[in-house]
Amino acid sequence: MTDSYTRLVSQGLGKDLAKRLGLPQPAVLRRYTPGQALVTGPVLVQGSTAGADELAATLLSWNLDVRRHAVPREKLGAIILVLDGLTTPEDLEKPVLSAASSLRDLGPSARFISISRPAAEAGSPAVAAARQGVDGFVRSLAKELRAGATANGILLSSTVGTTSPSALAALRFFLSGRSAFVDGQFLTVSTAEGTMPADVQKPLAGKVAVVTGAARGIGAAITRTLHRDGATLILVDVPAAGDHLAAVANEVHGTALQLDISRTDAGQRILGHAVQRHGHLDILVHNAGITRDKLLANMDHARWNSVLNINIAAQLRINDALLASEHFRNAPRIVSVASTSGIAGNRGQTNYAASKGGVMGMVRATAPLLAARGGTINAVAPGFIETEMTARIPFAVREVGRRLNALQQGGLPSDVAEAIAFLASDAAGGINGDILRVCGQNLVGA
Ligand code: NAD
Repeated sequence: MTDSYTRLVSQGLGKDLAKRLGLPQPAVLRRYTPGQALVTGPVLVQGSTAGADELAATLLSWNLDVRRHAVPREKLGAIILVLDGLTTPEDLEKPVLSAASSLRDLGPSARFISISRPAAEAGSPAVAAARQGVDGFVRSLAKELRAGATANGILLSSTVGTTSPSALAALRFFLSGRSAFVDGQFLTVSTAEGTMPADVQKPLAGKVAVVTGAARGIGAAITRTLHRDGATLILVDVPAAGDHLAAVANEVHGTALQLDISRTDAGQRILGHAVQRHGHLDILVHNAGITRDKLLANMDHARWNSVLNINIAAQLRINDALLASEHFRNAPRIVSVASTSGIAGNRGQTNYAASKGGVMGMVRATAPLLAARGGTINAVAPGFIETEMTARIPFAVREVGRRLNALQQGGLPSDVAEAIAFLASDAAGGINGDILRVCGQNLVGA
């Protein structure tokens, strides 16, 4: 559900009043529902490289209404700017200003997507400057777009083409309503791995997935989204949340495992449950997490230790158990829930931010271990999401947190779940060790 202020200012009198008073005017975002068109309106593919031509041909084969040149005053669903051949910062001018002339034609919840190469892989300072320039340009444009439109980018490693499986999967994710609350972000496709699903409506068909902290909030939303996408679910939460856990498990036709993930045998228990019922495990979503906020000057051992133990130490132990198992070997996927607090820092959250920074460090370092099994591990870093965790924040602080992003609203648990479902899919096999923020481009931090 969109918050009541957003509903109030999105139509009629409320809309006029908010405009006159200069109040935030968040748009009602276009979110994914099964069967929904990938994008609403023509897709303008700009760029003069072979990669741009190949991509445009692929999008045509998807039956999208593709344009290679702007048609004046035609409402666009998306602009895709292919910049995979940049050699100097001067190369940016022509394509960027050409795309600029079409920005006013973008419809509500439209998409701007750049496709370029990582600066870190550049062979010269000029190439690196041009590539890093794309980063600053896209993040700034994301702050300029209105009416629920977003700007994001895809970075392709040198061996990866514009039509490689994960490049196309990332493009589909960014084009679709699945990425409604992802804004000003980049996904890096590091290999040409990945396979497109037989059925795009059921990309997780046949997969067995474990979600921790599944009794409520973001975890419950993750199980619903993975179930919708075809996965078989195992839901983990503490015994005290048993009733809620059972209710969500029934809803998604999954099984409940009452377990405190900070137990040293948690990994074995999860594996045992999965193997006994399904013979193997494909996807692990580390979602369970807690906050115990205090200024560091007032921090005690119990607050520090419980947050670090549940939010990161437990993930490390569970990963070790799974990675040692022959039942987690078939292109496995791990997706961890981090937080923008772990990137930008947050007053009163030194313990939480240390744990979430730890999650991101763990994900990057574990990526080669997953790659060795044909798998991936990635993290999703949510910003302000409307859950019971954020409902407990005092009203004024909550209202500021909610509006302080380019989309001027809090995200929904389903927004985080969509990003996780995407990263857990076979099509995302070329994305490994990456961190994707789902934060509406929170104005705090990177
Ligand atoms: P929540 O408190 O609503 O739900 C967390 C769930 O995890 C609960 O059901 C809880 O019982 C379970 N859990 C806690 N400790 C556990 C343990 N030791 N073993 C098993 N289960 C345990 O929180 P949420 O808002 O849904 O957050 C989910 C994840 O998203 C957390 O990792 C959180 O840090 C992260 N996150 C949330 C937000 C937000 O705005 N809500 C923002 C950034 C990150």
